[in-house]
Order: sequence, then structure tokens, then C-alpha cells
Amino acid sequence: MEQVILETAGLTKSFEQGAAVLKKIDFSIHQGEVVVIVGPSGCGKSTFLRCLNLLEEAEGDILLEGKIINKEKKNIHRYREQIGMVFQSYELFPHKTVLDNVTLAPLLVQKREKEEVRQEAEKLLSRVGLAEKAKSYPRQLSGGQKQRVAIVRALIMHPKVLLLDEITAALDPEMVREVLQVVLELAREGMTMVIVTHEMEFARAVADRVIFLDQGEIVEEEKPEEFFSYPKTDRAKKFLNTFHYEALEI
Ligand code: ADP
Ligand code: MG
Repeated sequence: MEQVILETAGLTKSFEQGAAVLKKIDFSIHQGEVVVIVGPSGCGKSTFLRCLNLLEEAEGDILLEGKIINKEKKNIHRYREQIGMVFQSYELFPHKTVLDNVTLAPLLVQKREKEEVRQEAEKLLSRVGLAEKAKSYPRQLSGGQKQRVAIVRALIMHPKVLLLDEITAALDPEMVREVLQVVLELAREGMTMVIVTHEMEFARAVADRVIFLDQGEIVEEEKPEEFFSYPKTDRAKKFLNTFHYEALEI
């Protein structure tokens, strides 16, 4: 078995006043593994990814390559650099070019050499079909193109694991595929990823393992063939049924 990259033990998250949103989550992902998290809206998927990326404080342990990373505030940035994240809403800087958006963090945070970073940025942009867009501004791009820039911006940091939170949820249908294609290629190349998505066919294709989260708990954890064909719990069956429009009587 490959090395465990990221792990949680008893991860519990509550917001001020209110019940726990994540309840004692034990999770781990190995080098090169792709874990897809599915579950109903509000079940805690985004909160879980935000905790993994140290954007939220939580109880319990988060370990990166076996080392607890959520207990000492002063090293948070150093750890966060190693955990890439892409959001539904791109989060690009509107007044910076695509190239500047992509090279900002490696230059400022990692203090890498300008020419080396520029070359890698161009290589990555061309890999996702955006070689021509380096000098464009985000407003001049389609949603699918912006999301591919956001992926490149994460990749250039050489993260040990990449977290993707519903990265196609805001896209028009014709752009969903171009973005998912990039993610499928990353998976094939061995990128370790935790993916939250509502694209069930994509989930089935890309996942090594599927986690079904409901009300802040891991309810099922299976190989994709098993989960999608033979969900075990009523909660998972009910959730999967919401994707079967053909069964609706209109
Ligand atoms: P999902 O991504 O699965 O739709 P979220 O992780 O966004 O779910 O939310 C899980 C629960 O936590 C929801 O009930 C949501 O309202 C609550 N929540 C998320 N973020 C906050 C916050 N910053 N403050 C208070 N409650 C929050
Ligand atoms: Mg969410």
C-alpha cells in the first residue's frame, strides 16, 4: 500500500452555537489515490475540505504525511502550501492577468525564481489548453477557462494533495466536460485528490473510493462500482435516487 498523505482522526467541527457539522471523521488518503466525497447539500462536504486545508479550526487531528498540522498556528501557511484547493467560484484576482494569477504564490510565498516559474506556468497553461490566454484577464475568459486557470494555479505549487470543491457546479453544461477532462488526466498521472462533486458519472469514473457523507458523518465508504450499484444504507439509496430524473413522473 502507498504512503498515507493526508489523514484525520476524530475530526469534529462546530460553528458558534449549533450542533456539530462534522462528527468524529476518521479519514485517510494514500499517495496517488482519488477519493470522491458525495452527499446532500449541507452535509458538511465543503466544511470538511476547508478543515483539511486549515481554513477552519476543528477539534481532532489532521495529519499530513504522519505529522499533526492543525495544532500549531505559526506553521499553518507552510502546511497549507502543500495542500492545493480549487473552489466552485474560481477566486482569481480580477485585476491580474492569467499569468500573474498563476505565478503570484510561487514567487511570493515559495520565493522561487521568476524565469523558472514563468516557464512552468506556460507549460501548465498549455497543458490545459490555455497557452494563448496567459496575458488575458479573468473577465475575458469563460467559466470553464477560469476554472482551468484555478487548477493550474493550484498545481504550480506542487501540492502533495489537491482538494476540489464542486469545481464544475457554477459552469454551463458544455464547459463541465473540459474541466472534468483535466481532472481525469491529473488522476491518471497519479495526483492525489479529494474531490467533492455532484457529477455522478464523473465520480464513478475518477474515484478509487467513494465516501458518502450525511449530516456530518461518513455513512458509506466503498469502491465506486459498489457504491453506485449497490448502496447499502437507505440514506445513500435516497441520495442516489435524486439523480434519477427519468424515474420522475411529470
Ligand atoms: P455542503 O458543502 O455539504 O453543502 P457545508 O460544509 O457548506 O455543506 O455546510 C455544512 C453545514 O455547516 C451547513 O448546515 C451550513 O449551514 C453550516 N455552515 C457552513 N459554514 C458555516 C459558517 N461559516 N458558519 C455557520 N455555519 C456554517
Ligand atoms: Mg459545499
